[in-house]
Amino acid sequence: MNHFTKIINVSGTMTGLGASIASESVAQATSAAMKNFIFIHEAQRHASTVIAELTGAEKGFLTASASAAITLSVAAAITGLDAGYALSLPKGVKEKSKVVVQAGHLCSYGAPIATAIELAGAKVVSVGQATQTSDISLDYALDENTCAALYVVSHHTASYGMIPFERFVEICHAKNVMVIVDAASEMNLCGFIEKGADIAIYSAHKFIGGPTAGIVAGKKDAIRAAYLQNIGIGRGFKVGKETILGACVAMKEWLSKDRIAERKEEKEILNFWKKSVEKIDGIKAYIKPDPTGNLIDRLELHINHQKLGANAAMVADALANHNPSIIIRNHFIEHNIIELDPCNLKEGQSEIVAKALKEILSDKAALKKAADITDSQRNGTVDGYLSW
Ligand SMILES: *Cc1c(COP(=O)(O)O)cnc(C)c1O
Repeated sequence: MNHFTKIINVSGTMTGLGASIASESVAQATSAAMKNFIFIHEAQRHASTVIAELTGAEKGFLTASASAAITLSVAAAITGLDAGYALSLPKGVKEKSKVVVQAGHLCSYGAPIATAIELAGAKVVSVGQATQTSDISLDYALDENTCAALYVVSHHTASYGMIPFERFVEICHAKNVMVIVDAASEMNLCGFIEKGADIAIYSAHKFIGGPTAGIVAGKKDAIRAAYLQNIGIGRGFKVGKETILGACVAMKEWLSKDRIAERKEEKEILNFWKKSVEKIDGIKAYIKPDPTGNLIDRLELHINHQKLGANAAMVADALANHNPSIIIRNHFIEHNIIELDPCNLKEGQSEIVAKALKEILSDKAALKKAADITDSQRNGTVDGYLSW
């Protein structure tokens, strides 16, 4: 790891940073798997029992990512248990392949969610407007060619005006439409299954701290149909032995994790950071709970451009240029807010962050030289994929 840029991740469970840090036992499980053979179906059946325990679902399996899990779940809704049909996807898709999604849920998590749906051969049907969907428009959109409806739980979606999950399930199930929920970045692993989701999807590499994988949990036949897709479109999404065994250990550890206690410790760190910046003119600091109800708080720094002599993007740039590079959460950067997420810190890093915050935010001359938000940052993440 020595020749790579040293990073302190106060951004969150971001794919572009490697998502999360695995525990020693998760790392050992992946490493041990690498040295042995295993029947993959047997490993996946073991994963199924762990996923069932974790989520309350009947069955589950692992795939390459939550994004892959969306594609495979949609394919499952299209083909059911018909293996011949599964083999024919995506080209052989028939008319009953519409997937209904609320307009406010058609988000990007680094790639458009619509792409994950369309990869299965499905057609996306958007209902409602960006910040408002009514029950009747959902009900009306569910016709005889609808195979599934996708519900997204995320800070990336519209935060108001959406149909509550229970109501969404009720409307879809009244028309026998399968409900898939993308809860990739949620800690609530049981709630959506409990409330009737046919399939619930999570990322193993986010809060759970596993190797990169998508967790697909749900009703038995829906899961069988989704796993079946590995004979066709799922091949490119496969996971190996190391991922399956590592993710199983991570999921078991998550089951015994005390998030309440961890959150308390994290809050102490946030308070410590807050104190380190509070006296700086042009900075206001607030501790805020996660917007979708995850058991985590973050520190918001509200930046007064005039008083500080730099806007939020410039502060983020200055922190990123620190050694080690401090990567903040930037969803509200255009509102002159940066967020600091405490969930991925390693021993000793909270002190480095506090010191860097104080130094950088007090150094007006250096802040002035920091780069403002660039067009390529504003336009998404394309630049990074082309600049090598
Ligand atoms: C992170 C995320 C994804 C993508 O997850 P991967 O496992 O990285 O593919 C999909 N949906 C939501 C809501 C996410 O937060």
